[in-house]
Amino acid sequence: MSEQIHKSIIIGSGPAGFTAAIYLGRANIPPLVFEGDQPGGQLTITTEVENYPGFPEGITGPELTEHFRNQAKRFGAEVVTRSVKGVDLSERPFKVFVGDDTYLAHSIILATGSSARWLGLPEEESFHGKGLSACATCDGFFFRDQEIAVVGGGDTALEEAIYLTNFARKVTLIHRRDELRGSRIMADRAEANPKIEFAWNKTVKQLVAGENGLLEKLILGDTRGGDDSELAVTGCFIAIGHIPNTQFLDGQLAVDANGYLITKPDVMATEIDGVWASGDVQDHVYRQAITAAGTGCMAAIECERWLGEQGV
Ligand code: NDP
Repeated sequence: MSEQIHKSIIIGSGPAGFTAAIYLGRANIPPLVFEGDQPGGQLTITTEVENYPGFPEGITGPELTEHFRNQAKRFGAEVVTRSVKGVDLSERPFKVFVGDDTYLAHSIILATGSSARWLGLPEEESFHGKGLSACATCDGFFFRDQEIAVVGGGDTALEEAIYLTNFARKVTLIHRRDELRGSRIMADRAEANPKIEFAWNKTVKQLVAGENGLLEKLILGDTRGGDDSELAVTGCFIAIGHIPNTQFLDGQLAVDANGYLITKPDVMATEIDGVWASGDVQDHVYRQAITAAGTGCMAAIECERWLGEQGV
């Protein structure tokens, strides 16, 4: 264990983590940033980002992340490409466990984001890159003029289904109920789209490959007790929500019913003094790069003031 106590450690390397790093760096508190083994967060699996202000022509997710990272480093952030496997928040300085190493910190900003939720089918993993995806913007292009499916009934599923009609001949939206969770405006758009069909009260029971090893059809179960059915598709996009990445916290911080970290009203502070949460690990409502950056900024400003009050 190193004896050095870092003023601040940031865990996560999406817009929230790097924005927090930029603000702390400029406040003369250059943080240590653990960016994970696969840095960059969900932006890195997005192709074109068109709604991040300042890039009127759009920018790719990986490029935008690289800008954030370079900007954070410019102000002194030390960026380490390793994953945090655990933390001890029971006393200060806090402990951050990385491999066999332990790092000490007066403050921590959590910005670990969230990951796409999968169906949990045993064969699911073997279909990654073979017709199964959780990112329409990344992979939609590969399904030009094909018949594909989207699973889910929320805004993400609707948005992905609509987007995928730019490429696919037909998109079947498979939902486990007969009522959508997504917003009315998105539902209206999807329902008005002649390329979108709805498979109500259905779940995906099995993914079946053709002779070429690629997805060929889905076996659908009926949630109302009807018979199983088959749907011939070459692509299947899973859009059933996200899981906030809090496993490494091992229950040391309160989470809401969906597993998102709880922060105090109007601020990014958690229930533990000296620990902040920002970005998609805390925000299940907006989930945008710009809002993640915004809450990262808030966390950093709060952290800076708190460190000052502590005389650190
Ligand atoms: P949601 O949690 O809103 O929806 C998830 C959907 O997946 C639900 O319809 C749910 O079914 C279904 N589902 C969950 N688990 C399973 C499962 N195991 N098998 C089959 N179906 C399952 O997640 P979203 O990602 O859609 O949206 C998250 C948030 O982001 C929302 O607040 C949304 O409004 C927002 N958002 C907004 C957008 C916009 O405004 N443009 C775009 C994208 C997201 P059930 O309904 O039965 O629970």
